[in-house]
Amino acid sequence: MFLHPIEWPDDKKCAATITFDIDADSLIRDACRDDAELRLQPISMGRYGPTVAVPRILETYRRLDLTQTFFMPGWVMENYPDTVEAILKDGHEIGHHSWRHEDPMGHSDEQEAELFERALEVHVRMTGRKPRGYRAPVYSITPAMVDRLIEHEFLYDSSMMADDLPYRLKTTKGEILEMPPHWGTDDWPPFAHFAEINYLMQVRGPSAGIGPFFEEFDVMYEFGGFWMPVLHPFLTGRLARWHEMEKKLEGILAKGGVWFAPLEKIANHVQSNGGTLREEAIG
Ligand SMILES: [Zn+2]
Repeated sequence: MFLHPIEWPDDKKCAATITFDIDADSLIRDACRDDAELRLQPISMGRYGPTVAVPRILETYRRLDLTQTFFMPGWVMENYPDTVEAILKDGHEIGHHSWRHEDPMGHSDEQEAELFERALEVHVRMTGRKPRGYRAPVYSITPAMVDRLIEHEFLYDSSMMADDLPYRLKTTKGEILEMPPHWGTDDWPPFAHFAEINYLMQVRGPSAGIGPFFEEFDVMYEFGGFWMPVLHPFLTGRLARWHEMEKKLEGILAKGGVWFAPLEKIANHVQSNGGTLREEAIG
């Protein structure tokens, strides 16, 4: 079923990584710059992520012995240092996710470069190293950003959707891996209800919202693919939804043959065993 299948280590059937984007209240701070501090409801909805959901998610990962990936805007890292510390203490990866979730379509590339560097400095200061992976806010990645990631020697981006499996992006500046997300394993469509950013979805119940992510998993497992939910603690970290996720995760772990790892580790494997990867030219 795949044009360019990838062999996973230790004869595992498929690779899997759960990515959480910890946007917290950066979304409302950026969407309503003039009066965000007055809007306590969306601020509180975002703050639920790092303060209530992330400790719950980390507890599950400790119990199930999973090491995974979180993407954080630099502004969120600075404002929630305990969250950064707790994630690093358990050995998880933190990827670059902009400064304060600004959509690059709303400003010049010069400004985008400045925001990117500002966030990069926070990563180095708080984690002790440059991140290896990047995900654009709302997947809004530009050709200039791909070149910027290549110049900064990032290993991978995770914002584009041109394949089911990891693939190679090439530009005139060089190349980088793409670890592709897609909307079928993203929790905004089933769960987001956010008037201030004009995203008012019909909210699904826990099993109706979570179930489709695992239908995607079943097919990736069958064909030896790559499963990567893109989740948000303030959405999927709510109690009933996370409880549903936990039950489903326990089920697929019991099947065996799934290589759960942080995205960086999967990208490293793909990079070193990637002779047959599909290539996509940008720009
Ligand atoms: Zn985000």
